[in-house]
Amino acid sequence: MIKTKKLTKTFDKNEVLKGIDVNIKQGEVVVVIGPSGSGKSTFLRCLNLLEEPTSGTIEFEGTNLTDQKTNINELRQKMGMVFQGFNLFPHKSVLDNLTISPIKVKGETKEIAEKNALDLLDKVGLKDKASSFPSQLSGGQKQRVAIARALAMNPDVMLFDEPTSALDPEMVGEVLTVMQDLAKDGMTMVVVTHEMGFAKEVADRVIFMAEGIIQEEGTPEEIFEQPKNSRTQDFLSKVL
Ligand code: ADP
Ligand code: MG
Repeated sequence: MIKTKKLTKTFDKNEVLKGIDVNIKQGEVVVVIGPSGSGKSTFLRCLNLLEEPTSGTIEFEGTNLTDQKTNINELRQKMGMVFQGFNLFPHKSVLDNLTISPIKVKGETKEIAEKNALDLLDKVGLKDKASSFPSQLSGGQKQRVAIARALAMNPDVMLFDEPTSALDPEMVGEVLTVMQDLAKDGMTMVVVTHEMGFAKEVADRVIFMAEGIIQEEGTPEEIFEQPKNSRTQDFLSKVL
């Protein structure tokens, strides 16, 4: 579904991604781990062209994204993204947060968008919050709304950039549970996280990134139980 070849990204003289080759299959859950500053967010942002790659190619569902002719807006509809901060529209109700893009961008009718939104809110356990405003929600609830909002566009893949890092510890679990359910439903997911328990349990594949390259990748068992690379070993000894 997503294939990058020799993907690089340089900011001024800082080469942040130094040639990333990945191949993500439909329905696969790929968890990206690695130290802060290693290029994880930049990698995710390149996948949906929030950052313009410096060189290399990204193929998504058979389309070369680095081709000038690619319609970026169409592409973004197919890639849902959830960030560390919740980025909800503060002056809109939860329901409106979920329906605004499907109505405006996809041309859905209000009725259909609202029905779909309520189904999604039900899925993330927040149907009763449809008429609340973001300021009335806890961090965990906001992040679940953010996930439902991304899903409302019916994306083919979901990208998560440290979705639980800004949450109080007691709210991390409810967000990870929603993500786990999504994985069970067969969603293709790329997840940057420091939640090693989630990586172990939910990932089909774990990628360890450091200094702008993939140092090692494998199944959770391979990475967590028998890491080969000394950098992976060193990183895991600090976080586990
Ligand atoms: P991670 O998500 O692994 O912590 P990032 O991808 O956020 O790492 O950042 C990797 C490096 O790229 C850092 O040195 C950071 O300062 C740099 N960087 C990220 N975004 C920008 C930007 N927009 N402009 C300049 N430098 C950036
Ligand atoms: Mg980051």
